[in-house]
Amino acid sequence: MSQENQMEKIVSLCKRRGFIFQSSEIYGGLGSVWDYGPLGVELKRNVKDAWWKATVHGRDDIVGLDAGILMHPNTWKASGHTENFSDILVDCRSCKKRFRKDHVGDKCPACGAKDFTEGRAFNLMMKTYLGAVEDENGLCFLRPETAQGIFVNFANVVDTTHKRLPFGIAQIGKSFRNEITPGNFVFRTREFEQMEIEYFTMPEEADAAYEAWIAERFRWYLELGIKKESLRLRPHAKDELAHYAKGCTDIEYLFPFGWSELEGIANRTDYDLKQHAKHSGKNLQYKDTVSGKEFYPFIIEPSGGVDRATLAFLADAYCEEQVNEATRVVLKLSKQLAPTKVAVLPLLKKNSELVTMAKRLKADLSKSFTTVYDDTASIGKLYRRQDEVGTFFCVTVDVDSLTDKMVTVRHRDTMKQDRISLEQIKEYLAQQFSTNNS
Ligand code: ATP
Repeated sequence: MSQENQMEKIVSLCKRRGFIFQSSEIYGGLGSVWDYGPLGVELKRNVKDAWWKATVHGRDDIVGLDAGILMHPNTWKASGHTENFSDILVDCRSCKKRFRKDHVGDKCPACGAKDFTEGRAFNLMMKTYLGAVEDENGLCFLRPETAQGIFVNFANVVDTTHKRLPFGIAQIGKSFRNEITPGNFVFRTREFEQMEIEYFTMPEEADAAYEAWIAERFRWYLELGIKKESLRLRPHAKDELAHYAKGCTDIEYLFPFGWSELEGIANRTDYDLKQHAKHSGKNLQYKDTVSGKEFYPFIIEPSGGVDRATLAFLADAYCEEQVNEATRVVLKLSKQLAPTKVAVLPLLKKNSELVTMAKRLKADLSKSFTTVYDDTASIGKLYRRQDEVGTFFCVTVDVDSLTDKMVTVRHRDTMKQDRISLEQIKEYLAQQFSTNNS
């Protein structure tokens, strides 16, 4: 399967099976915004839950936060976004298309002409107005990153949780950027979700924390099933770094359109808290309880995109297999990420006793696993449908089940089937989920 072809297949599967739809499709669509359908919302939620579990609930040194999308406009002056959050754009004089200068060489990717306008800075922040009057006094921005909501709450979190260094604050939420060239499906959009951690350390411990976070975040993607050969680290060259950053490393994934950034881990030094202290006039230093010394902690920032991660998990899980001369499409998502864990399928939908038994089983399994019931096609078709959306187990209720009280469990990846008693099915599935570690 060619890489281009693979991307088309993923986009088509996402639409056909209700993972991702184009925004406002009935009006011709809004390019650069995507809607997550019934299965997509489950998958994306599982990605966020896995992140939250690994970074907040699984650790003693990180707490969560959910700050507003709209923030005081001075936030963006302090952070440097008002002045510097710009991409340089160029227009092709021949086909009139617009590109990010750092994304094109000397030739237009659309028409091949070599006639670009001079580059000019374009601020990516989206504007809105608060209140009834649309004037400069009410001017506000939709946040272009979740990080600033964490920095401005640093003192609140320290005062209320009594956390001591090193500790982190984690947040998941929407961000908005007026990207010049959105594209590659949900990879680059104008409305997206970020998962960010700001980890505050003693200045002398920052380098070690930076290395530890690179390793930890790399491990997270592997643990959730991404193939090792599709993941790499790309340390930034000195001239790529923001003026305040001491180091930055991207975790890149081999998307069907090439190696691209999934997440960045940066050592932001003490820049952010100093800037907000300067602009707000508040003391944002940390006070060491033992020495009594006050200082600005250094910050390590692992910053990832929920949508990019979701796309990477989808692309990595997409598989086509030849089974008895037919092609089986399987999404080999890990057990944590699969949107549906179990599907209960009656072999004959006309047999009401069978249907009742299957529906009762579905209701019971739903208490422990995300479970669906489906009787809208023949069993072969139902299996294929569930394979295509990554459902881990199909449990089939047949005529024999009525007398022997046994059901057939089919494993997604091996297609192996086991006959299990109704009494033991819950325990059997729980066991399978706890031993299968991907
Ligand atoms: P790029 O160079 O691709 O524009 P960036 O370096 O500007 O990305 P950051 O500002 O470091 O990105 O944002 C952190 C993370 O947020 C990225 O690694 C990515 O996963 C996600 N992200 C950033 N911009 C977008 C976008 N337009 N659409 C989807 N996800 C995004």
